[in-house]
Amino acid sequence: MARQLIDSYGRVHRDLRISVTDRCNFRCQYCMPAEGLDWLPREELLTFEEIERLARVLVERFGVDNIRLTGGEPTVRANLAVLVEKLAALDVDLSITTNGTTLPALADSLVEAGLKRINVSLDSLRADRFLELTRRDELDKVLAGIDAAIAAGLAPVKVNAVMMRGINDDELLDFARFGRDKGVTVRFIEFMPLDAEGRWTNETVVTLDEIVRRIGDEFPIEPVERTSAPATRYRYSDGGGEFGVIASVTQAFCESCDRVRLTADGQFRNCLFAVDETDLRSLLRSGADDDALAAALAAGVASKWAGHQINQVHFIRPRRSMSQIGG
Ligand code: SAM
Ligand code: SF4
Repeated sequence: MARQLIDSYGRVHRDLRISVTDRCNFRCQYCMPAEGLDWLPREELLTFEEIERLARVLVERFGVDNIRLTGGEPTVRANLAVLVEKLAALDVDLSITTNGTTLPALADSLVEAGLKRINVSLDSLRADRFLELTRRDELDKVLAGIDAAIAAGLAPVKVNAVMMRGINDDELLDFARFGRDKGVTVRFIEFMPLDAEGRWTNETVVTLDEIVRRIGDEFPIEPVERTSAPATRYRYSDGGGEFGVIASVTQAFCESCDRVRLTADGQFRNCLFAVDETDLRSLLRSGADDDALAAALAAGVASKWAGHQINQVHFIRPRRSMSQIGG
């Protein structure tokens, strides 16, 4: 039996998020400054071989069974399918979170490489608002990307929508209808204080309670039993599929969090909001063996805090923005 990645609160970690690049073809308002960020130099990014090695240690030594590739925009990293093939061979539940724009070109090759499911981020169904939010006029490309993912056989296809008061919360029911019509699961995400421009306030968060009430007023819904996944799920009683809410702010799931993160430059984070990181890239590049990597990973998790404490006076905003951590 593998050892476990366990922290001092007894939480066992099996879910790994890997950011494969800090670059992105969008500049979403809540994620990146308009002028973009200074991209990491190529040599600072982990290579596919380095990513595979760390993932293998986490899977084989610690029983990690869930890997999600993210970014920046993961699909702008050249030859992503090569990495997908390497990670799919580890026999884990492998997925990608993407803005969807490249899927018309890439979906088939990702499926051939072994990808089974995908999450596409989309925060407005209105072209003018989409342009304002992402600073790119590419709503049509994202919609085509969702269709391409469905056609390529990825299942489930989930659509992630960050709900922000006064910005896109009037589209809540449009998103619910979109999910029902397309047969995709929409997951509404509470806005988190990781936006690069620091616009987040408590009032901008559209809460789980409000989302469920407003959708429930329109469609009959019933709760789906909770799993370890962070989404609170509901199904439409008429068979129209389901939706989820990721209530990271109002109902933090820190007490059951089983997630660890690897940034594109090889820093290991034990929490989305962590202020400290473990420098795995230096270890890898100084010739560390798997035992040394495993020891660093175990120590990195052991020191995890109880929870992120958004809304409390001692909450500290992480130095990195969401695009640099990976969501
Ligand atoms: N570029 C890819 C994408 O957009 O799906 C992957 C990276 S992105 C940082 C991952 C997720 O984080 C996206 O679903 C995005 O909507 C979400 N996100 C970014 N900033 C956020 C914030 N301040 N609060 C909540 N979610 C956020
Ligand atoms: Fe790019 Fe995704 Fe951030 Fe938007 S949310 S700027 S698509 S990384």
